[in-house]
Amino acid sequence: MNKEEIIKNLVDASHYISNSGLTPGKSGNISCRFYEDGVSKVAITKSEISKGMVETNDIVIVDMDGNTLEGEGKPSSETFLHLGIYNERNDINAVVHTHSPYAAGFSMSEKELKRLEGFGKIENPYISSVKYSKPGSSELAKDTADIMKSEDAVILKNHGVVAAGISLDEATLLAQFIEDIAKTQFVAHILNL
Ligand SMILES: [Zn+2]
Repeated sequence: MNKEEIIKNLVDASHYISNSGLTPGKSGNISCRFYEDGVSKVAITKSEISKGMVETNDIVIVDMDGNTLEGEGKPSSETFLHLGIYNERNDINAVVHTHSPYAAGFSMSEKELKRLEGFGKIENPYISSVKYSKPGSSELAKDTADIMKSEDAVILKNHGVVAAGISLDEATLLAQFIEDIAKTQFVAHILNL
């Protein structure tokens, strides 16, 4: 995929996660890694914008050190969280970070989110969590990348969700799936199952 296609896909995915209720307010950010002239680069949503309003000129291209190469806006405040995952995982080409309400609710509680059938490995019955650090901090970026060496989706304590995939579709669907299993577990808990 060329850069223009990547940017268009990011715009479409931004609208999709916003319309799906995964990114309230101006929360959330998404990115794709791509290669141009043999150099690895990342296209990411700019900071401080509703994902429902993202247009092509709201996507910023950064190098693997987070320096802006192209684009007008400031890249997402979580750019280093995205870059940390790409640096640890050669098989990952897209990262989606959301504040989806049910999963974020779990992140703020003592309850862990169970893995439901069809997702991930079975050694750990729960979705792994990353301990709280300030959003946008290098600590949060490092701790998330460490845990995502062996996980495709994690809960950020008191914050939200990070999901990664080989493609933007995979990462987006995984972020949505995490929200769906949070809803299911919530309903099961209310029904006292
Ligand atoms: Zn966030």
